[in-house]
Amino acid sequence: MSDSQTTRVMEQAAGNPFQNALAQLDAVADVMGLDDGIRAELRTCQHELTVNFPVQMDSGTRRMFKGYRCQHNNALGPYKGGIRYHPDVSLDEVKALAMWMTWKCSVVGLPYGGGKGGIIVNPKELSVTELESMTRRYASEISPIIGPWKDVPAPDVNTTGQIMAWIMDTYSREQGNLTPGVITGKPLSLFGSEGRFEATGRGILYVGQEACPYKGMPLDGATVAVQGFGNAGTVAACLLETAGARVVAASDTSGGIYNAKGIDAGALTRFKREGGRVAESGVGDAITNAELLTLPVDVLVPAAFEGQITEKNAGDVKARIILEAANGPISPEADEILNDAGAFIVPDILASSGGVIVSYFEWVQNINGMYWDEEEVNQRLHKIITKSFRRVTEVAEQRRLPMRKAAYVVAVQRVVDAIEARGIYP
Ligand code: NAD
Repeated sequence: MSDSQTTRVMEQAAGNPFQNALAQLDAVADVMGLDDGIRAELRTCQHELTVNFPVQMDSGTRRMFKGYRCQHNNALGPYKGGIRYHPDVSLDEVKALAMWMTWKCSVVGLPYGGGKGGIIVNPKELSVTELESMTRRYASEISPIIGPWKDVPAPDVNTTGQIMAWIMDTYSREQGNLTPGVITGKPLSLFGSEGRFEATGRGILYVGQEACPYKGMPLDGATVAVQGFGNAGTVAACLLETAGARVVAASDTSGGIYNAKGIDAGALTRFKREGGRVAESGVGDAITNAELLTLPVDVLVPAAFEGQITEKNAGDVKARIILEAANGPISPEADEILNDAGAFIVPDILASSGGVIVSYFEWVQNINGMYWDEEEVNQRLHKIITKSFRRVTEVAEQRRLPMRKAAYVVAVQRVVDAIEARGIYP
């Protein structure tokens, strides 16, 4: 079975991602006593666009592709959320990710709603020319519903700064105006922001620096396992290591490695970025992805995909603190098992918000035409994510809730307040 099939089977075992997103919302709606009308509105994506389009392949043949752009809620501001290229993309996955974006933007106080997009494709099977043609046609297909004050996409799994640059260029040419604020995660050479590439991993560091002392554990010397050594995972591992933590395990689709003495996260990142695979790095003992999740570590950082910790393996997870870098890595059933066992989970909507926070900074800089240095970006990121962490812990303490529910209470309440203040048009 391929890694992608393994991931899919785990996701199916964990249930449909949109059903998981609804279950999380329902649980918090009960705690908040939301009325049925608002609840129904929040359970629904405002727009779900499916696009089917042809691309000219290098061989001269035409190939059809299917893509999506879902917009969950824009009460707080323009829809915001990434675009994913993956063979397993589905409408329900995109809807779930769009809803999670609404809560993620809201919990950290950004003036954005939630959206998400994707194309069903394995981009590694395309040439650069085919990738560019597919991206530009997808951008053109969704262009009527995106824009700096409508919907602002960004990178997600398998999409890069170059892909964002093609989307910005396509949109700008169709509009007849240079519009850098239509998309974020652009390269620095084309209206990108300093610090954007590292932002999600840096956000994990900042929540780790809050979560460890909050639980009475110094980050200095804490042992860390990182599942998914990609963009978010590598940066988080390197920064946590710099802050004194000991990264003892890492994994990617090739499998994992474990070294109780600590692996050199910086060296493993360089090996990975030069095309190496974690399992072939030789810096520790070979372990499976499943084994990584149940290692006796202080901090676990799931940074791969959704649905990795389910009711089947949650009972075996030993980490005291879990920082969710990936979106939706823990199923609702697993969440309960982990909470009952006393694990402290910093939920995805808070822990992995660094990327969207710096995306917001990029958009602000694009709209104003003034650019900040990396120090300013990192200081502003630290301020927002730290303040949000403290607000969520306050609500968790006041209402005796686990962190995920407390984060949802903060996030959903802001959206509900905006919906009520706007009223219903017409
Ligand atoms: P990426 O493609 O750069 O990295 C994903 C990594 O996970 C790859 O190394 C891949 O080999 C590995 N992987 C895949 N399946 C795995 C499995 N079953 N076990 C172990 N490793 C596996 O993607 P990314 O941008 O780092 O995103 C990772 C997660 O973080 C996603 O859930 C994404 O939605 C979320 N996220 C990313 C950002 C961002 O700015 N990059 C922001 C917020 C959330």
